[in-house]
Amino acid sequence: MESFKNLGVIEPVLRSINDAKFESPSEIQEKSIPLIIAGKDVIAGSATGSGKTLAFGTGIIQSSEKGKGLQALVLVPTRELAEQVAKALSNFSKYKPMGIIAVYGGVGINPQIQKLRTADVVVGTPGRILDHIARNTIRLGKVKTLVLDEADRMFDMGFKDDVERIIRKCPQERQTLLFSATITKDVVRLSRAHMKQPLQVSVESFVDPKKLVQTYYDVGEDMKFSLLVHLLKHEDSNLVMVFCNTKRNTDKVAKNLRFADVDAMAIHGGLPQGKRNNIMERFHSGKSCVLVCTDVAARGLDIPDVSHVYNYDIPRESKQYIHRIGRTARAGADGKAINILSSKDYDNFSQVLKENNVEVMEEKLPVINKIAARMPEGKGNKPGEGRMNKSNIRRSPRNNNRRRRLY
Ligand code: AMP
Repeated sequence: MESFKNLGVIEPVLRSINDAKFESPSEIQEKSIPLIIAGKDVIAGSATGSGKTLAFGTGIIQSSEKGKGLQALVLVPTRELAEQVAKALSNFSKYKPMGIIAVYGGVGINPQIQKLRTADVVVGTPGRILDHIARNTIRLGKVKTLVLDEADRMFDMGFKDDVERIIRKCPQERQTLLFSATITKDVVRLSRAHMKQPLQVSVESFVDPKKLVQTYYDVGEDMKFSLLVHLLKHEDSNLVMVFCNTKRNTDKVAKNLRFADVDAMAIHGGLPQGKRNNIMERFHSGKSCVLVCTDVAARGLDIPDVSHVYNYDIPRESKQYIHRIGRTARAGADGKAINILSSKDYDNFSQVLKENNVEVMEEKLPVINKIAARMPEGKGNKPGEGRMNKSNIRRSPRNNNRRRRLY
């Protein structure tokens, strides 16, 4: 606790940190909390899992007072992240209570209008915040702290103009905190336009490379699903996330996993919000242990016990790979990222290896039974087809032998 105290964290927040059993500040907390408390504008290069919520949360809780109007606005890219951040801020402020609400689209606006009347802190997605601005149901005139959380993601999702419109509605005299996994050109441009002499802090990496094992299997398209089922049934795992590139594939894979007796759920942006919340609740509580998801649905969510991340499709954008594997090996736990490649993934995978400094080892295919998936699979591509540049791939020391076809 001393170490948090030394950063300038006040007693009520220290008590909640104690309740959360955090022993020492994370790197981003250590670097940013003193600047945030001092009222500086800060650009923080850090992603989910780094402890950034407590970093900006400390600043918000320490500078806001209950009943004094809307004093802090946190913009986030997704609805799930809005819920998660609002919940975390409520926990951290339990000994200095204040009105903290999540505001996002896809749910009724009237209950939000009601709660906005007394809110001290709002965590919201840009679209719905703009909606409230247009209806005059949110007053930004007293905002002292503006947080842009996962700024790069908000820009990727096309919210750049919306974010700028909201910033312009906030008072000039304010503190702006920007958190982003990658400091892109857009991030730099926005900070130049809207921040006051921002100080930049960053943390090296948000996954512990020593704790994360990354592997890949090279398999024919027609055996991809069977291999996934085999691994899900044989790997010693806790919570598991299976990433697909499309909503359609996400649904298909989850459905077929259930046919194969794997308790899986699908989550993607096409589902109604209530359903997404229920699914996340079930996953968090461990009632269902396999979550099949798209990048959009999963981004930014804090799920501590994810032991395995599967890439059933390799992401089209290579930085997405880093976001996906960052779901595991967090807070000192071990994690495994398993890539299931068929020839149609080779191009994307080559790109991932070229653009990221990652070590991925090849695993030998186990003996697997073909499972007749009730979804159409590819037309039987064989391993080794396609155009993969394997120069960056490390062969596992365990698997130096030539791979054998076992099916
Ligand atoms: P965040 O990056 O804010 O999403 O936080 C990631 C996870 O780390 C959350 O589950 C936090 O509760 C947890 N966390 C935040 N700060 C610390 C800390 N200093 N020590 C241990 N866990 C932490």
